[in-house]
Amino acid sequence: MAEDHEFDSELHRTAIAQLDRVAGRLNLDPNVHERLRHPRRALVVSVPVRMDSDRTEVFTGYRVHHDTALGPTKGGLRYAEDVSLGEVTALAMLMTWKCALMELPYGGAKGGVRCTPRTMSPRELEHLTRRYTAEIILMIGPDLDIPAPDLGTDEQTMAWVMDTYSMTQGKSVPGVVTGKPLIIGGSAGRREATGRGIVYALYQAARHLGHELRGRTVVIQGFGNVGGVAARLLWRDGAIVTGVSDFKGGVWNPQGLDIRQLEAHLAESGSVVGFPGAEPVTNEEILERPCDILLPAAVGSQLHAGNADRIKAHVVAEGANGPTTPEADVILRDRGITVIPDILANAGGVVVSYFEWVQGLQYYFWKESEITSRLQEVMARAFNRVWNVGQKEGVDLRTAALMEGVRRVAEAHRVRGLYP
Ligand code: NAD
Repeated sequence: MAEDHEFDSELHRTAIAQLDRVAGRLNLDPNVHERLRHPRRALVVSVPVRMDSDRTEVFTGYRVHHDTALGPTKGGLRYAEDVSLGEVTALAMLMTWKCALMELPYGGAKGGVRCTPRTMSPRELEHLTRRYTAEIILMIGPDLDIPAPDLGTDEQTMAWVMDTYSMTQGKSVPGVVTGKPLIIGGSAGRREATGRGIVYALYQAARHLGHELRGRTVVIQGFGNVGGVAARLLWRDGAIVTGVSDFKGGVWNPQGLDIRQLEAHLAESGSVVGFPGAEPVTNEEILERPCDILLPAAVGSQLHAGNADRIKAHVVAEGANGPTTPEADVILRDRGITVIPDILANAGGVVVSYFEWVQGLQYYFWKESEITSRLQEVMARAFNRVWNVGQKEGVDLRTAALMEGVRRVAEAHRVRGLYP
């Protein structure tokens, strides 16, 4: 099979290896398998921005559509220092499997700009977002590709993307992005959706493993949208959050952290570091602290061959995308640790993004209670399907989830055939 050197990256090699392994298990048609290994289209753009210093800086941005067999593409927009074509392409592929697994009518996409958002002013971020949007405008649209927030981007970023796109159309087009502020067509419950979905997945895991979530100890790496929301919901439901961290470092208290006070500390100081009454820990140490549930919710490749044998959690729920390297995956599996894979654990975000898109297209908005109960239903159904495939095939949850996702996409390719 021809290799795509331009997409080469660690995460891309992992994504391809996962697909190849699952293709073998599924007895996938080799012609369909070959098509799934390549993104449908990828765009690289230069994004010039006049910085506050009046100097013009040129950033590099990407948008990749992996597959369109099931519908328009969907995927986050990431602002981070290490964004590359290979990483974005791999993440787009993971989105394809995630959308298919959750039975959403989407293919996978991803976008990103290589930058350090923490060091940029709001004005610089707005100009970066608007120019990036203008550069990729032919790749996005409500029935073509619908971006959403990811690492380093938020509701405000989505509002700027939506406004820039709408200006080129001469009308408001809310359906071009999800994860927007409520006032311009966002959905109730979208901000909390990924963290909430993780909690629903953990409830299902606890049910199958025969224990309760209440009273379990939890360590969370990353206290942003995903980790912060999951921390609050788990704490509210009686779990004991003993450690959390952000890019500056972490805090640890074996008696449990008061998440509401921690949120207030974060709002005041900009970091969880320095929270009174907690011991400081590094981002590496926090992963190895004893706990029942470990929730990596920051960046990729955090659980690797160098630390997997020191992880003490019984369950790892992947809030982040790709937090476990393939080597670590094998070690964790051999040690009997249950890993709820990213494409299942963090799928709540794209599920409620789908609800937001549907609401926007219909100009009819649902109550938050409707959103959360539908999300719970979708998460439980997907989790149980994956669990059952795992039992039946004798495979771990990651393999089972990938098998479910890839199988649906392959079936769509089979019935649609190859053009021309
Ligand atoms: P965010 O920017 O809101 O928060 C990221 C958090 O991680 C922050 O607390 C940040 O300080 C911390 N962090 C950043 N770099 C770190 C590092 N090197 N070490 C430790 N902590 C670090 O981002 P988010 O939306 O919460 O996304 C987090 C992860 O979840 C990403 O991998 C993203 O792809 C994934 N994800 C997000 C969503 C979503 O809906 N937002 C959906 C699915 C998956």
